[in-house]
Amino acid sequence: MSQIKLTSYGATGEVTGSCHLLEVNHYKILIDCGLFQGDEENYWKNWREFNFCPEELNAVILTHAHLDHCGRLPKLYDQKYKGKVYATDATRQIAQIILKDSVHIMYEKSAKHRLKPLYSTNAFNQLNRLWQTIDYYQPQPLNSKISFTFYQAGHILGAAIVEIKVENQTIIFTGDIGSENMPLVQNIDYFDRADYVIMEGTYGNRNHEDKKIRNEKLLEAVKRITIKNSTLLIPLFAVERTQDVLKILNDYYESHLDFNVPVFLDSPLATEATRIYQRHLNLLNAEAQETLKTDRDIFSFPHLKITSHIRQSKQINSVPPPKIILAGSGMAEGGRIIHHLARYASRPENNILFMGFQVPGTLGYKILNGAFAFDYYNKSIAIKSVVGQIDGFSTHADQNELLKWLGKFTGKPKKVFLVHGNQEILEEFSKIVKKNLKITAEVVKNNHSIILK
Ligand SMILES: [Zn+2]
Repeated sequence: MSQIKLTSYGATGEVTGSCHLLEVNHYKILIDCGLFQGDEENYWKNWREFNFCPEELNAVILTHAHLDHCGRLPKLYDQKYKGKVYATDATRQIAQIILKDSVHIMYEKSAKHRLKPLYSTNAFNQLNRLWQTIDYYQPQPLNSKISFTFYQAGHILGAAIVEIKVENQTIIFTGDIGSENMPLVQNIDYFDRADYVIMEGTYGNRNHEDKKIRNEKLLEAVKRITIKNSTLLIPLFAVERTQDVLKILNDYYESHLDFNVPVFLDSPLATEATRIYQRHLNLLNAEAQETLKTDRDIFSFPHLKITSHIRQSKQINSVPPPKIILAGSGMAEGGRIIHHLARYASRPENNILFMGFQVPGTLGYKILNGAFAFDYYNKSIAIKSVVGQIDGFSTHADQNELLKWLGKFTGKPKKVFLVHGNQEILEEFSKIVKKNLKITAEVVKNNHSIILK
């Protein structure tokens, strides 16, 4: 009989730095190796030594391509992990562009603080040799006793729930659980049974606004700036949120061919990510497949302009309103959106529309919560535009959806382990799970081993 042990080294009582080690006797599987993000203090945690020996790992499985799940993979390579990194092909491709985008920020920060870079350029390049892509629903043996299978997580393109089978035991790692009825990704898969579930609980304490109004709210803003002859700024996350918004705008523009307000996609990363979506159309949901029957390119429509080069980005300024600008970053913490905010935010006729949750401390959070001005290269820019937020594009399940997913297990798990959420939220959610579903849910502690069997 095998002993199975779980130890989490990240995303314990917080939402970043996902990193979980599953040991089956001496066989070691790491699930995710993400970056700690947020404030400076959290970011520097990435420089700490791993509490396990990367060289001794037998396999690494990546649930999805967000940086807080994949951001420390090159560091693993630097520390002599030369085994496989298993992921879906979409996850591999998105992780590559996300890591590439994050490298220069990492180098800048380490240089500024006179620290050795988190990982070498060589590790970043060599990581590409380790990928082993696996399709959904294809069981992958790791050794004679252990295998795993990817299922739909419904979170972003390529995101997977990992079901690991060890002899007669089933252990499920949810990664990030998606919200239902999204414009593009398929809904999450349900499971009949598992012995243990390691589950995310980001929104274990709240529910999102009704999804039905999200498209209307977006199109209302589009119509408003058209009437006002003004500018709509949408700070966007490059992956999933951008493609969701493009799809909705695509459907509107394709069915209103006389509507000619230009849309600028002003984010090289989002443009690259969109190309990956275009290469994986088979992974999209039934609604998107339906649109694809009559419209072969659901991310491109009349009056959409891709402004890759910085020169093209600057030329947007000279385009008369009305116009719509989609740019990163999603929380206005950097990227081209900053320059657009500096140019347009002080005009009351303009609109700034955030597509989801803004982390406290970010410029997005400040603007959304009524900041009067922000600092742009030592110049104070007044914020007088109409500011709004659409919550319905969240890529994370809310409390009802998390409970619904867990409630679908007919054979109840022996225990659920909660990760990837604020400590208080996870504690609150564990009580709700016990009360509503009669399942024991434990909030996972950092660097604390749990013997599953
Ligand atoms: Zn994620």
